Amino acid sequence: MAKRDYYEILGVARNATEEEIKKAYRKLAMKYHPDRNQGAAAKEAEEKFKEAKEAYEVLSDPQKRAAYDRFGHAGVDPAAAGGFAGGHGFGSFAEAFGDIFGDIFGTGRGRSSAYRGADLRYSMEITLEQAARGFVTDIRVPSWDHCDTCDGTGARPGTKPRACPTCGGSGAVRITQGFFSIQQTCPTCHGGGRVIPDPCPACHGEGRVKRQKVLEVTIPAGIDDGQRIRLAGKGEPGVNGGPPGDLYVEIRIKPHEVFQRDGDDLHCEVPIPMTMAALGGEIEVATLTDKVSLTIPEGTQSGKTFRLRGKGIKGVRSAYPGDLYCHIVVEVPVRLNEKQKRLLRELDASLKEGGAKHAPQSKSFMERVKGIFTAE
Ligand SMILES: [Zn+2]
Ligand SMILES: [Zn+2]
Repeated sequence: MAKRDYYEILGVARNATEEEIKKAYRKLAMKYHPDRNQGAAAKEAEEKFKEAKEAYEVLSDPQKRAAYDRFGHAGVDPAAAGGFAGGHGFGSFAEAFGDIFGDIFGTGRGRSSAYRGADLRYSMEITLEQAARGFVTDIRVPSWDHCDTCDGTGARPGTKPRACPTCGGSGAVRITQGFFSIQQTCPTCHGGGRVIPDPCPACHGEGRVKRQKVLEVTIPAGIDDGQRIRLAGKGEPGVNGGPPGDLYVEIRIKPHEVFQRDGDDLHCEVPIPMTMAALGGEIEVATLTDKVSLTIPEGTQSGKTFRLRGKGIKGVRSAYPGDLYCHIVVEVPVRLNEKQKRLLRELDASLKEGGAKHAPQSKSFMERVKGIFTAE
């Protein structure tokens, strides 16, 4: 079907001013308003109105109007590539009247644009053990809920919101400063285009009330710090029949006394006595879920790392659990009595007799240091 010329639709000249275009559109909007076109006429009126709205959206925007003047419908056709980016699409009357005239017709809630509700974020702090195992819990989320007293209009039952007297319902005002004329959001209605002379006592004119919502959340096993769980549709309710937003539960994992997590792997420091480091032995180390025995070979040095396969965490999307890395810290004995000191001196003397072979690291260190001084 061939599209009609936008100027023809609005019944204005090609050189019509912004004001003339607006006036023409307003007249058509009144004529095809659903309150005046009931029954059989309604469908046709809606088509006519959509047509007028499309024409108005293009001709009231200087950029789009220029494109239309040069290229015709192809320059602005929503179906044509490149044209009309960011357009509203042509919805119902309700949407259109809400957009352009606010509540000038006293249409009230339900005739304004539908908006998706806002997403909500909920921060949850859990322990590393909880993260590894996963669990189910309830959370309390402060949330806006539809006000039943005024059915969301914000007006005291029996009264109605009115078009804003400052801006006449458009939501914007023009301020003239010298040569300049600036369009600003209306300070009275904050762009909403309507005011509530007698606010609803339950919600104080907000149209919605704050409530605590209790939601069940399943924290999957293996979840990591910073990961989010999306609860679809559990955000704020939509406005004027729009869909609700989502709720994101953001996970923070408390620092653990023993383990540091790195993805699916865990790291921990394992202190062992100097004598065990020298002689070798067996110790028990804790994992997140149980205890395992770790064999310390003879001559284990501080900083040595032992890997325990599969003793890390199985991430949410991982096929296998990670590993546990035990970083050995050799502990030097402290607060020795006289006898212990004597024994250590004896040991020291004995080790010196053996020369550098008992302390290969010290030997190579001393040699490297010497190298620094003789290099010049
Ligand atoms: Zn209310
Ligand atoms: Zn206003």
